[in-house]
Amino acid sequence: MSEVSTVPGVLILLGPPGAGKGTQARLLEERFGLVQLSTGDLLRAAVAAGTPSGLAAKAVMAAGGLVSDEIVLAILQDRMAEPDTARGVILDGFPRTAGQARSLDGLLAITGQRVSAAISLEVDDAAMIDRVAGRYTCATCGEGYHDTSKRPARAGACDKCGGTDFKRRADDTAETARERLKAYHDQTAPLIAHYRKLGVLESVDAMGSIADIAAALDPIVRRATN
Ligand code: AMP
Repeated sequence: MSEVSTVPGVLILLGPPGAGKGTQARLLEERFGLVQLSTGDLLRAAVAAGTPSGLAAKAVMAAGGLVSDEIVLAILQDRMAEPDTARGVILDGFPRTAGQARSLDGLLAITGQRVSAAISLEVDDAAMIDRVAGRYTCATCGEGYHDTSKRPARAGACDKCGGTDFKRRADDTAETARERLKAYHDQTAPLIAHYRKLGVLESVDAMGSIADIAAALDPIVRRATN
């Protein structure tokens, strides 16, 4: 009898704000054809569109708190229902609470799937505030930059697409980053034990360069998606 067919993989990137989840998820998307699924991006889009979920989430996000599981799960489930996710997904910023992790396990069980790897990006807290408070992106292509550690080669123009508009997230201030870090330690870091128990936890030192972290992730993702 043939096995229940599964998508190539459901990968989770765990780590505090500034650990590089978004950057690495985008690189994995390019390298492995997986689909990046960022609940932060989905929520920012809902805020920008002024949907009821966006309106409810806006103030919580601005303060660096966590949006309710109910809203986040509804947004995620809608996105997971789109056909491109059959290529396999990298969850970036989800799950962030024990309730979200349980809901995800339940959601995947319905289709005979499971988390193939939960990768914890290990970083020093102190460095995270600087990383977050200094970062910005190209408004055209999304390439990431930083005030001190990664400036565009030609001032004011994106290295990747030449775009000249850049943007900063409203919640990327030192003060909000401290709140987000606290939310991470209080509510998200305990998930590391959950995934260790499930036998799918991987840890990667994420204090190095973007290229070094990508190189460390490569064999893990290769194994998890095979
Ligand atoms: P991120 O882009 O992942 O840093 O998320 C930005 C903000 O969106 C967070 O600080 C939270 O307010 C909210 N958010 C994103 N993902 C979640 C989630 N899984 N659960 C609760 N809130 C979330």
